[in-house]
Amino acid sequence: MCAVGKADMAARGVSVVGVASPDNPACIHGPTVVFERFLQDGSTRKFYACAACRDRKDCAFFLWADQRLSSAKRRLWADLSAAAWTKMTHTQRFHKLKAVRAAAAGERMYCQTCCVLLLRSERAAHSSCSLSSPLTDSHLSHPSTFLPPKENVKVEAQYLFAQRSVEVLVGLAGRGGASGVLCVGAPRIHEAVTSTPSLGLASILMDIDDRFCSFFPPECFLHYNMFNHHFLGGREARTTYTTFLARHQKLVLVSDPPFGGRMELLAHTLRTIEADWRTAASLDPDTTLPVFLVFPYFLEPQVVASLPSLAMMDYQVDYDNHPIYSKGPKGMKHGSAVRVFTNQPLHTLPLPEEEGYRWCEPCQRWVHHANAHCEICRACTSKDGRTYKHCSECGRCVKPAWVHCGTCGGCRPPDHLCAPPLGCYTCGDMDHKHLNCPKRKRSASSSRKSKKRKKRDGKESALPSSLAEERHRDLDILAHLIDGK
Ligand code: SAH
Ligand code: ZN
Ligand code: ZN
Ligand code: ZN
Ligand code: ZN
Repeated sequence: MCAVGKADMAARGVSVVGVASPDNPACIHGPTVVFERFLQDGSTRKFYACAACRDRKDCAFFLWADQRLSSAKRRLWADLSAAAWTKMTHTQRFHKLKAVRAAAAGERMYCQTCCVLLLRSERAAHSSCSLSSPLTDSHLSHPSTFLPPKENVKVEAQYLFAQRSVEVLVGLAGRGGASGVLCVGAPRIHEAVTSTPSLGLASILMDIDDRFCSFFPPECFLHYNMFNHHFLGGREARTTYTTFLARHQKLVLVSDPPFGGRMELLAHTLRTIEADWRTAASLDPDTTLPVFLVFPYFLEPQVVASLPSLAMMDYQVDYDNHPIYSKGPKGMKHGSAVRVFTNQPLHTLPLPEEEGYRWCEPCQRWVHHANAHCEICRACTSKDGRTYKHCSECGRCVKPAWVHCGTCGGCRPPDHLCAPPLGCYTCGDMDHKHLNCPKRKRSASSSRKSKKRKKRDGKESALPSSLAEERHRDLDILAHLIDGK
């Protein structure tokens, strides 16, 4: 990660240090990650926390890095892991699918409470559960169409592609003549590929949502944590993964991770998968694994800082259940904010004209029709989907409503609160941002918060300046950027 990114994170209080090494203590989601907390007095303290859950509510693991995990606690976490995932093995669940598939649609049921398939004759055991029925063949091959999405933004953040976007993404993935696709947190891509044999693509879904065990066989679905490259399905799942990699010298990876996830961790995982693939498929050490990574346009700097080989495409990815990122009454006025990042040459990746995309000859890539080519910048400069305008003072194109501010020397949203471009606007010093300013007066609410925090810290029961708080701050900043007015 670049120095600027690190400094920026430091200013926000918590930063990731290193990746989830297998030697780190493990929670039920596999090896934890070391984070570093920047304390008020300028010192830092490291701690281990869950790689998958960005809120302590969802996974309670916490350990200061300078303390040892007691053997009692280690045993407790091992027991918790065993209890969390081994109610029914993947193979058992898949056998159930075979039995259920043999029955008529009206006899097939899925218990949303216990997360199991069952036959109508077995429903007495689920009398107080929430049951789905009938289940058609299409439901069984496309479980994301009836499983309620896990929308917890701090864990799964399950937002499902609209059908049009599934088609575009499958088309992009299939273009380079791939024979296999790894769908990492992309169940709808996996569903589309596995139910369309004419594509000639084999697919494996790697996802943390183990409900898919009931619908895909162990050789097609791997219960997996993408932030520490940990196979929750154990050694067998890892072998399945390696065998798949070995079989496909032409492989492509499609991923739509939670947007709140740490890009450094994901980047490390993608590099690890690429290295695993080169070894398993006996490829040259410089062979590139084609990647299609779905992420919002306003996080482009973070994506490119961690994965410099990726470039952002102009395609606006649509979702069925995302209030902000999709079109529609509650959605963004100017289309979805989500894009596809890829390491494939952009001129080889056509976008659908019927959805409003055009070929830009000077840029040699497909862009949205509203993305006008600027002769001065020599590029199609829009990021958010609207037509940008060129500012001669800034020497670049900016969002349409932005105005050039002489005080801070840049184009800003019309209602921006003018601040010096660098340093702290509380005391004027250049070596810190105002959040870390020693002279900053604490507001009543923030000191209340910090008292609460101290109390929790005392009990060692919550993250100090939890990741959750930091995420909230991130999202506030992001929301402002999206609005961009
Ligand atoms: N748009 C995609 C779904 C993206 S939502 C589609 O329609 O196919 C994010 C997906 O990543 C979810 O399926 C979620 O279960 C999965 N996920 C979230 N955190 C994960 C993690 N730590 N490891 C692996 N998968 C994860
Ligand atoms: Zn039940
Ligand atoms: Zn152009
Ligand atoms: Zn321009
Ligand atoms: Zn300007």
